[in-house]
Amino acid sequence: MKITLNGWETGIRFVAGHFLPSIEKCNRLHGHNYALLLEIEGETEEDGIVIDFTKVKEAAGQIVKKLDHRMLLPSGGSSMTVRASASSFNVQFNGKEYLFPVADVVVLPVDNVSAEKLASYFADELLGSGIFGENIKSIRVGVAEGRGQEAWETRVLQ
Ligand SMILES: [Zn+2]
Repeated sequence: MKITLNGWETGIRFVAGHFLPSIEKCNRLHGHNYALLLEIEGETEEDGIVIDFTKVKEAAGQIVKKLDHRMLLPSGGSSMTVRASASSFNVQFNGKEYLFPVADVVVLPVDNVSAEKLASYFADELLGSGIFGENIKSIRVGVAEGRGQEAWETRVLQ
């Protein structure tokens, strides 16, 4: 049995800024309306459900809330140089320089803040939340950068 959660419809959404240094148009500072999409496959348990939707929405909502109205920066590995001080992040690439207040930034454990890497990050975070019981076989986590433009990560649990 498969259950799905569409962040556009259920409010699992966030807005955030980013740039992708290696892509010409995307290497300028810009933002997206993002939504988290989720497919969960598993056995239906004796109580007639695969997993409680409320539990899934709470866990997913907490994960995206941390990124909402923030500038998203990679922790490393990309072609940009990020220098952190107590009050700000200095970001340089392609001869450009940005200064972001610490309070406005979330540094993610990715080498690139693409929809693909965000989907992997959300999959890690959801699996780490401990909400999935032994009846769950797989999860697919999608990140939409606006409607109709999505990246999906699949994780098999059994
Ligand atoms: Zn973008």
